[in-house]
Amino acid sequence: MLALRELAGDLVDVELLSPEHHFWYRPLAVAEPFERSLVRRYELPAMAHAAGVAFTPGALAAVEADRHVVRTSRGVEIEYDVLVVALGAKAVPAIEGALTFRGPSDADRFGWLLGEIEEAVARRVAFVLPTAATWSLPLYELALLTREHLDRRGIHDAELSVVTPESSPLSALGRAAGDVVSQLLGKRRIRLHCGRHVVSFGRGRLELAPAGSLLADRVVALARPEGHSIPGVPHDRDGFVEVDGHGRVTDLEDVYAAGDITRFPVKQGGIAAQQADAVAESIAACAGADLVPSPFEPVVHALMLTGREPVYIRAEIPAGPAEASTDPLWWPPSKIAGRHLAPFLATLESDDTYARSGRAVP
Ligand SMILES: Cc1cc2nc3c(=O)[nH]c(=O)nc-3n(C[C@H](O)[C@H](O)[C@H](O)COP(=O)(O)OP(=O)(O)OC[C@H]3O[C@@H](n4cnc5c(N)ncnc54)[C@H](O)[C@@H]3O)c2cc1C
Repeated sequence: MLALRELAGDLVDVELLSPEHHFWYRPLAVAEPFERSLVRRYELPAMAHAAGVAFTPGALAAVEADRHVVRTSRGVEIEYDVLVVALGAKAVPAIEGALTFRGPSDADRFGWLLGEIEEAVARRVAFVLPTAATWSLPLYELALLTREHLDRRGIHDAELSVVTPESSPLSALGRAAGDVVSQLLGKRRIRLHCGRHVVSFGRGRLELAPAGSLLADRVVALARPEGHSIPGVPHDRDGFVEVDGHGRVTDLEDVYAAGDITRFPVKQGGIAAQQADAVAESIAACAGADLVPSPFEPVVHALMLTGREPVYIRAEIPAGPAEASTDPLWWPPSKIAGRHLAPFLATLESDDTYARSGRAVP
């Protein structure tokens, strides 16, 4: 939306359809259980107004691409010349009995678990990635932040481990990232089990595949991302949408998709922003803007919270050069490295008191 405004200006009229009234900026979600008040919320209609786009409340319910019409959950029909589908992914709990960490809404439950470790009710905690097809960094961050939290309280005997189906940590980002994370986990006494899926958790034991088991009093897992089944939008069996390098949905005219809803395996905010840039360029060019649209060429900028100094990882994917450093590798060194979003949000007022009030944050 922001990229399109910048590239195409008045050549396009933009309408934002959203079921939510607020935009939640939650890149620091993993730090919430340790240090409150990091999530900010913004009024979406006000954001739309500031960006010069119309705001329509409602959810996308169906697409009739041959008529260039969408239907909303409120039964309204909206005509379009070009449609961009950016519905994200649903966060589905994947391991029975585990605490599924989806974001700030699970911060209190995670805080409860920290309390259990501090009181020695639980001492063995496993952090589990249920599928390699998700953004795994938050899991490593949670494990590292937990260790730091416990060390600062003089609790040194908690057994922390990470179980992941990845061949090495952050395997999608290449060797350099994996080596740095592995070394860091080792230094912080966090055991790493790579190439392992969790089959079940019960009676203090995790059963792993292809082999092995692990004793654990508590399990923290990330969610399994699942796409959406919107009539009229072709998707794979997990609900994800196939797009070309410019974000055009396969076999559908004038429909684009960006972000976690696409089949691209790295589900990360910075990547979503890069996909959106490619979509915006393509639409702006069609609308008559003087530019040649460039395709999506993914470069991950990942800022990993460790409890001490953060680690910056920059990786061209798949299989391009990658580097990791404790010095910033991009500027400004933000958690979501999008060209438009952070500068735009800096011009708006957020409701920072919301997170402090203790009300539920989605
Ligand atoms: C714990 C955790 C920490 C993370 N930390 C980071 C991080 O530090 N940095 C980073 O880059 N990435 C991070 N990520 C990943 C990042 O959150 C996602 O990759 C990113 O939010 C994807 O953006 P998106 O726009 O595709 O989807 P979303 O951000 O999920 O947005 C989708 C939007 O679509 C709306 N929607 C849903 N259904 C409909 C419908 N039918 N009609 C209309 N609208 C609809 C939703 O309300 C939502 O507002 C993290 C993820 C998790 C789980």
